[in-house]
Amino acid sequence: MQTRQIAILGAGAMGSLFGGRLAEAGHAVTLLDIDDAHLAAIREHGLRLSTDAGERVVRNLRARRPESAREPADLLIVFTKTLHTTAALEAARGALGPQTALLSLQNGLGNAERLVRFAAPGHVLVGVTTWPADKAEPGRVSSHGSGTIRLRGADGSHTPALAHTVEALNAAGLACTADPDVWAAIWEKAAFNAALNGLCAVTQCTVGELTNTPDGEALALKIAGETVAVARALGVDANAAHVAANVRHALAHHRAHRPSMLQDVLAGRRTEIEAINGAVVEAARKTGLSVPYTESLLHLVRLVDARPR
Ligand code: NAD
Repeated sequence: MQTRQIAILGAGAMGSLFGGRLAEAGHAVTLLDIDDAHLAAIREHGLRLSTDAGERVVRNLRARRPESAREPADLLIVFTKTLHTTAALEAARGALGPQTALLSLQNGLGNAERLVRFAAPGHVLVGVTTWPADKAEPGRVSSHGSGTIRLRGADGSHTPALAHTVEALNAAGLACTADPDVWAAIWEKAAFNAALNGLCAVTQCTVGELTNTPDGEALALKIAGETVAVARALGVDANAAHVAANVRHALAHHRAHRPSMLQDVLAGRRTEIEAINGAVVEAARKTGLSVPYTESLLHLVRLVDARPR
């Protein structure tokens, strides 16, 4: 395996998990973040990583602020929340060169569009991951259970950048495949998140508490269905039955889960609502579809986001 220079922009839960696993596989990884306590903990003690393979310390990581990045990376993976993508890339220009591949596995829609301003054509990669991660405290991240990654070139091209990225992620045991049909998976995940993240953020219910009245499940299924309808109107082959089954499964089996949007609200941070429900509403307008449940939920979460912190 060829050692690659990999920068992780946004080294919170997911970025630290990916950075740690890629460093363990022998790549030269730099974590770029603005959380000085997290960066300092990693510099002083290494990254404490807890997965099903056990708890260990990853020491061969560089950790610095985005504006101090000086060397162009072969691959830069963006793992900020979507609302911070553009500002983070502006600050991290030192890590971007003409050959840098830029990858987003962030949730929501519009990630490729945000990245294309910063990379050469054919160098933007976009996809979806089912790996989970949580940041316990500065310098410490956990991820339990397994996951996969599916990605493609944003413009559909099969570049060496795509092949090298798939190879690097697989060498780190992250189960990555190149999938030209990944748009369907991206929209299906957005449909799931538009329903459960948004509803939990507004109601402060856990996922299971959404079933305390029949209205919760009905609302979730309406919102997920609206998003799938928009995807299909755009020619994306998202599967309504598949998404509805995932929503019902989460309501039944992930009852104690607090989705990230609820965690953001409870921590006084702004949510990713614009890249999820906001992007669905915008796309619906272009297709002439009406998405009243998704749009109402967008406006409600915007009100929560607008509260003074
Ligand atoms: P997180 O909040 O744990 O991490 C985001 C990091 O970005 C933070 O460390 C923050 O300090 C950093 N950041 C913010 N602004 C920055 C800037 N300008 N420059 C550099 N760094 C900056 O979030 P996360 O849970 O790791 O999620 C990241 C993305 O992955 C989101 O889009 C999320 O929806 C998606 N995702 C998360 C999971 C999960 O299980 N956590 C799973 C799949 C996808």
